[in-house]
Amino acid sequence: MLRIGITGGIGSGKTTVCKVFELLGIPVFYADDVAKELMIKDAILIQQIKATFGEEAYFADQTLNRKYISDQVFKQPDQLKKLNSFVHPAVFRAFDNWYTQQKAPYVLKEAALLFESGSYQQNDYNILVSCPLALRIQRVMQRDKVTKEKVMERIAAQLPEETKQSLANYQIQNNEQEFIITQVLQLHSQLLKKAF
Ligand code: ATP
Repeated sequence: MLRIGITGGIGSGKTTVCKVFELLGIPVFYADDVAKELMIKDAILIQQIKATFGEEAYFADQTLNRKYISDQVFKQPDQLKKLNSFVHPAVFRAFDNWYTQQKAPYVLKEAALLFESGSYQQNDYNILVSCPLALRIQRVMQRDKVTKEKVMERIAAQLPEETKQSLANYQIQNNEQEFIITQVLQLHSQLLKKAF
């Protein structure tokens, strides 16, 4: 069963593209959602986060104080590295466990920082979803009700588009001229050929 990574800059439409693959029966592992879930459910991870950031990292009801953590890692980039060094292995373990339970010619692993984290190297192929910058900004502002500056800040924290293009095996263009569905169908048939 092939492991296919899928990524794209913020607001590029990677989740939207994944939903189309799901319609074709392809299982999708949403790494960022799993990471968020593990941070409130995985006892070892919770312990590591509290040891690094203090008890303030969690509210009394044991939900994660995201604002506090993001402020801390913004102020001290080393803390971000440390946080990733706990979270990434936990997500890898969860993926490996999930993978053994799937039955399909290939599975997708969706992650925003697939290339940045180096995890793309563990996949057979990687897909990049690309979308013009102006459209991404407009869509995220609308979806998350945030300012243009906030979106730009998040984009600046990611690898440049050209670097990601050079690392990707396949690309899907999510612009207003090309249909996602057509491109997914074409890619699906290419991946099926690779899988069998
Ligand atoms: P993030 O990195 O922030 O999680 P993402 O890459 O997963 O974003 P999506 O959430 O799939 O992106 O898309 C961003 C927004 O743009 C969503 O509100 C989605 O509904 C909308 N969108 C994506 N693609 C299209 C499209 N082809 N046509 C119309 N709206 C779209």
